[in-house]
Order: sequence, then structure tokens, then C-alpha cells
Amino acid sequence: MDKFWRAEAMIRASAPHGVEILPVEPCPEDYLRRVHSAEYLEKVRTNAFNSLESYKLGLPCGEELLTRSRLEVAGTIAAMHAALSEGLACNLAGGTHHAFPERGEGYCVLNDVAIAVRHLQSTQPERRIAIIDTDAHQGNANHAIFAEDQRVFTYSIHVGKNYPSKKVPGSLDVPLPRYVAGADYLEQLEATLASAIEGFDPSLVFWISGADPHVNDRFGQMRLDDADFLRRDNHVLDLVKKRRLPTVVLYGGGYNRDREHTARLHADSVLRAACVARSWHTS
Ligand SMILES: [Zn+2]
Repeated sequence: MDKFWRAEAMIRASAPHGVEILPVEPCPEDYLRRVHSAEYLEKVRTNAFNSLESYKLGLPCGEELLTRSRLEVAGTIAAMHAALSEGLACNLAGGTHHAFPERGEGYCVLNDVAIAVRHLQSTQPERRIAIIDTDAHQGNANHAIFAEDQRVFTYSIHVGKNYPSKKVPGSLDVPLPRYVAGADYLEQLEATLASAIEGFDPSLVFWISGADPHVNDRFGQMRLDDADFLRRDNHVLDLVKKRRLPTVVLYGGGYNRDREHTARLHADSVLRAACVARSWHTS
């Protein structure tokens, strides 16, 4: 978990002038209940999972984990409001796309994007929202939660034969072979994302960036290098900037063999977004 502190320190050291890093308070529980059941939240709080459930989640439950997860959700909601007023904002965490309403998987306890979307829909039911997921793993819980919601478009580019073993169809899935080369990944991203966003025409984007497509990641099973990450980030950021789409940037997963490198990849994506944010209203 130290990637969060390491990345924040890197971002603070290099953030362009005018970028603010703000604290949050834990998200109120009634917001969580728009997505998660009371029974599930209580199980997280009291660590009432059986051994299989605990194994699938991969984190030690209890009050401390619930509070940390509520802070993560609050960061995504705060970034969403900032993006809607300023154009572009980041949560220095978030993108927990394997958290289902009744269960957590793959280190994801609460689904920050789903809770933020449901919160916004409570006052703006007509808004069209796109979730761009470039994490190496499919955003299965997001796809399940929004499967019947025509106002939300879910895009995921991921390894086809990797975790999660059971995929849930999204609005547009781009499954790639295991250990896909960076150039092939980028070719597929560039061939599919822009037309999908153009076709759906959202007025808010959540981008789950993901550091785990990196070649040195332990779980991602992709082979992007640092230069490929630069091109990936620029492609997404150029797209949302060109269309002036309010965008929330989130970490997603990252499990590099070199922990410092995980933090560096997250920090670089945020710093690239910060540079775009700074020029949002001037170019
Ligand atoms: Zn992942």
C-alpha cells in the first residue's frame, strides 16, 4: 500500500503551479448504500467473511479497511465535482473496478466509480457518463453494475485470458492476447477508443488509468514500457481535451516488481493530466 504515499510525494514534488492537492473526509455511508448492501458493508466492518471470500478480496477486513475505502470513494466524488467545474481532476487512488454490490474481489472493497456515478445521477439523472478502463484487467464489477444503464458507457481494454476469469460484458470490450506488446496494445487502443467516445457522446468521463499494463508488473501480463505509457496517457488525455470532456483520473491497479516504479507510473499519469488541466481553459 505504500505506492500511494510514494506516488503522492512524487506528485507534490513535480506538480505544476496552480495544482491543488486537497484532503477528504470519509464518504457518508448512505452514499455507499446506493451501490452496496448494508449486509456487505457490515461484513467488511466486522470482518465476517469466510476464508474463500477473504482470499478473493485479498485484504484484511475491519473498521480500518472500511474507513480507508470510504476515503478512497470520497476522493473520487470530490474529483468528480472538481472535474465538472474545472475540466479535469484526479483522485490519488481509486478505480476499484472489481468491487461488486455484494462482494469484493481483487483488492477492491467499495466501488468508487459506481458510488460517484449513482451520487451524481441522484441530482443529474440525464447525464451521459463514460468509464474508460485501461487497467490490464477487465472492469468486471463496473460492467455488471451498469449493464442495464443506458446512460453509462463502459470501455475496457485488457488481457482476455487473465484475471478476472469470468468476464462480464461491457459496452465495448477490447480483449488482447497475454503478454501483448506495447505497440499492439496502442494500435488497438487508438483504433477503438476515440470512435467509441465519439459515438456515445458523454459529458463526463472516469478514466481508470492502471499502472499494471507495464512489462515489469507482476499481474498485468502486458508488455508496455515507459514510452508506451506516455503514448497511452497522451492518447486518452488528448481525446478528452479535444472534446472538452470533464474527466476524473483514477489510479487502478499497479503491482510492479519495483515498487518505486509502480508509484512512478501512477504519478506520471497524474502529472500528465495536471499539465493538460492547466491548459484546459487556455488552448
Ligand atoms: Zn488491474
